[in-house]
Amino acid sequence: MCLQYEQDEALCRRKNSYTQREREMEMMEDVVIVGAGIAGLATAVALKRVGVRALVLIRSEGLRATGSALTLFPNAWLALDALGVSHKLTPIYAPSSMGYVTNVSAGDVQQVLVRVANNGGDGHGIRTIHRKALLEALAEELPVDSIQFSSKLAVIGNEEQGGASIVVIHLEDGTTIKSKVLIGCDGVNSVVARWLGLAEPVHSGRSAVRGLAVFPQGHGFKQEVHRFVDVGKRAGFVPLNDRELYWFLTYNGDNMTGDPEHIQKQVLEKHAEKFPSSYLDVVRHADLSTLTWALLKFRQPWGIIFGKLSKGNVTVAGDAMHPMTPDLGQGGGASLEDAVVLGRHIGNSVINNGGLIVPGDMAKAIDDYVKERRWRPAFLVTGSYLAGWVQLGGDKWWMKFLRDGIFYQYLFGRISGLVHKDCGKLPAMSFGDMDHSSKKD
Ligand SMILES: Cc1cc2nc3c(=O)[nH]c(=O)nc-3n(C[C@H](O)[C@H](O)[C@H](O)COP(=O)(O)OP(=O)(O)OC[C@H]3O[C@@H](n4cnc5c(N)ncnc54)[C@H](O)[C@@H]3O)c2cc1C
Repeated sequence: MCLQYEQDEALCRRKNSYTQREREMEMMEDVVIVGAGIAGLATAVALKRVGVRALVLIRSEGLRATGSALTLFPNAWLALDALGVSHKLTPIYAPSSMGYVTNVSAGDVQQVLVRVANNGGDGHGIRTIHRKALLEALAEELPVDSIQFSSKLAVIGNEEQGGASIVVIHLEDGTTIKSKVLIGCDGVNSVVARWLGLAEPVHSGRSAVRGLAVFPQGHGFKQEVHRFVDVGKRAGFVPLNDRELYWFLTYNGDNMTGDPEHIQKQVLEKHAEKFPSSYLDVVRHADLSTLTWALLKFRQPWGIIFGKLSKGNVTVAGDAMHPMTPDLGQGGGASLEDAVVLGRHIGNSVINNGGLIVPGDMAKAIDDYVKERRWRPAFLVTGSYLAGWVQLGGDKWWMKFLRDGIFYQYLFGRISGLVHKDCGKLPAMSFGDMDHSSKKD
């Protein structure tokens, strides 16, 4: 309100409209998800399927798909089945039937049996897909106004309202949003994870380059995965379709700099110069606009096992909870699993409360989600780190023995057991349950 003795009417009007604007900018939501990567969008889809509307905040102006492509294993496809999204992707991307590992210095090629069967009921096998296609398939399941762009989370607070704890979310642009539930899907440098008190992710000492290669006339490769290992390096490529391949290089070190052209040059002339011509040819066909370089970080497994993964109605999912090195290709799959498990616990709470979000019960649902999830990502982080360590290990006799004699002969197949995990289904909602958003607490 403007005080009466203020003479300047213009100033008075400005002040009134400012308070009005401020009031409009303070919103109240049932669930806020920070981040619109795989974890954020999948969690919003899971919640929508159990009748809960979530507002997804993302700091960028549009959906970003850094990394161009990723490989999804059966666990990821089973989660996408539960989310009702897999059918949009499986007709476009074929499963890989076979894998080959070339030991660059020894020159020998091992055929790795893709033990993951590609038959029905097994999550549609192993498929490499465009990240953008996955994000779009998830995003189009959501109401248009449920994703809010240019909304960067800055500070988290909380307050009591009617005996219930409400999360107060402050955005960088000054907007304040109050919410009954906050789910941090804000990636490896998560603000929410920091607020929960989780230990910061650590550098693995490894880096990765990835991108797409485009062959306008067709690349001529079968739908098979080609991997290459050398001292301190691991690389590979796999077709996405007849014209495009996804390729990557992981190596010990953190010394890549420069623009995409320079990165491509360093891969060709420094890191992979001794690699077979098939790999070099793929890198030469790189679409430079897709080329990225990243330092690889992970959260130490004990930080996940013993860390505070939730506080009341606030929790984390995806890389915000369990950043891992990409050596098992499980970060995205684990994010999809998180979404289904969290959706199931929140959905059951909503069903049990007649379609309402009851803060006290929601805290229990979130705690149950954390209890169910905690151990598996810790195993995946450990397995991924060890898989990378063995593969990048070098050519000392004992490392070769570990890699070729033990890892590829016995462990690789067993680790593939981890990628069969079925995270379960979402609860079926009746029409009455779905109607909760119109009801008031
Ligand atoms: C080299 C490499 C290869 C990989 N290969 C595979 C693979 O083959 N298969 C696989 O399953 N996984 C793979 N992964 C892992 C996978 O990419 C990640 O686990 C997955 O993308 C995590 O998704 P996310 O949604 O948790 O995080 P992100 O994709 O990082 O999304 C985070 C989101 O939060 C937003 N955000 C961040 N901070 C804020 C803020 N303060 N306010 C608002 N928004 C914010 C970002 O804009 C973004 O939208 C790979 C990773 C790497 C590095």
